[in-house]
Amino acid sequence: MARLYDTSMYDRTRPVGSFWETTVPSPMVDPPLSHTLHCDTAIIGSGFTGLSAALHLAEAGEQVCILEAGTPGWGASGRNGGFCCVGSTRLSDEELLQRFGRDETYRFFQHQRDGVELVRHLAQQYNLSIDAQGNGEIQVAHRPSRRSALENQYAFFKDVAEYPCVLWTSEELTEKALQIPEGYGALWLGVGFGLNPMKYVQGLATAVRQRAIALYAHSPVEAWEKTDAKHQLHTPGGTVVARRVLIATNGYTSEALFPAFEGRLLPVMSNILTTRPLTSEELAAQGWHTETPVFNTQNLLFYFRLLADGRFLFGGRGGMVGSQEESDRRRHVLTQQFRRTFPAWSEVEITHFWNGLACTSANLTPHIGSFAEDPSVFYALAYHGNGVAAATWSGRAIAQIMTDQAQLTDFSAVYRQPLKAFPLPGLRMWYLRSLYALYTLQDALP
Ligand SMILES: Cc1cc2nc3c(=O)[nH]c(=O)nc-3n(C[C@H](O)[C@H](O)[C@H](O)COP(=O)(O)OP(=O)(O)OC[C@H]3O[C@@H](n4cnc5c(N)ncnc54)[C@H](O)[C@@H]3O)c2cc1C
Repeated sequence: MARLYDTSMYDRTRPVGSFWETTVPSPMVDPPLSHTLHCDTAIIGSGFTGLSAALHLAEAGEQVCILEAGTPGWGASGRNGGFCCVGSTRLSDEELLQRFGRDETYRFFQHQRDGVELVRHLAQQYNLSIDAQGNGEIQVAHRPSRRSALENQYAFFKDVAEYPCVLWTSEELTEKALQIPEGYGALWLGVGFGLNPMKYVQGLATAVRQRAIALYAHSPVEAWEKTDAKHQLHTPGGTVVARRVLIATNGYTSEALFPAFEGRLLPVMSNILTTRPLTSEELAAQGWHTETPVFNTQNLLFYFRLLADGRFLFGGRGGMVGSQEESDRRRHVLTQQFRRTFPAWSEVEITHFWNGLACTSANLTPHIGSFAEDPSVFYALAYHGNGVAAATWSGRAIAQIMTDQAQLTDFSAVYRQPLKAFPLPGLRMWYLRSLYALYTLQDALP
């Protein structure tokens, strides 16, 4: 089974339809590969992971080339919510502590925070305009009963992760940030900010071009051979011959790409809508006065933020097929959820709706490393829907490993678990279906 979703989800000729696309010039500047090219390291995929890895590998003197099936940022990197924040695991705090112990859990959260700082640093280093907004991240309790979960989270962030954070009552939430019917207090975390992900990923691609790193668009790797310790990656127009390969394809990975991927990843869909720009009166009518990104305590959580031009972005998980018909249904459901959450904006026009694939793994943790089957094939992926900072950081981490500036053990054990297969991988979509049904029930409980 090469792909788990409808083929249209992988169709690079189909417009994504995101608001972000309207904020950047057309990205059609990179040529497709049309010859045979030799390089040290070939990178497959040009999202945050691939581009960050390329920049850091090149800084260390490696000769790199990037193959991208669409255009840079066509995958999740150019179409996400722009939360440059922490949290790329689906393990609970208790599970992290139980499985990895306090020190490795602490290290994991330092890496996550470093990821946020790395994004700021790269934006500065390459003079990228990324529309950075807000200060930290706000998690809102969607039921009075979820306040205790926030209190536990607060204790964990303070004591284990050693992050700056503050618990807010519902009055403090209203005073400092927003007022919504399902807002029963919040946890403010002083790590993270919002950005325009398309501007950020395109900025990284520009930096890659400026460093004269070979970047080929519309060049899907369709076949892969290895002879004489050299990988040959075949695209429709040409072939790259490389000593090493980095797979940076996350939720858009085809399991046919490399045999060791079989049954090891579970991409999940996320959906986003944006409104037209809201006036200051409309913002005041809903009691909204923050640029800090917000999400809530639901398992199938909603994430939302005010954008630089006054538009509002609202997103949530969901979707199991990826067809146009399902997408139309998801648009309707998400719009209803948006209007319920923000009653003062019940008539506001929705201008854009789109979706995309994030990626989860059987361990419920992100992964960096190389395959036991072939140690010259590296990967960095599975950020569990939280990859703006983590993918940027993982691209750098894997580049450091590949250039012997670091060893895998220099990074938290949370990141370096073997990429194991799901039990009975053919049932993955059924696991997801059951999980979503359970989450929906739990989220509805008072
Ligand atoms: C709707 C949505 C909202 C999200 N919101 C957030 C958020 O607010 N904050 C956050 O931190 N994270 C968010 N995420 C997750 C985040 O976007 C991802 O974790 C991150 O972008 C992954 O980056 P990447 O470079 O690893 O993969 P991607 O950006 O997905 O890039 C993979 C690339 O590989 C290419 N590719 C695949 N196969 C091949 C092949 N055979 N040959 C050549 N190229 C290939 C694809 O075309 C694609 O461009 C969201 C994801 C989605 C879908």
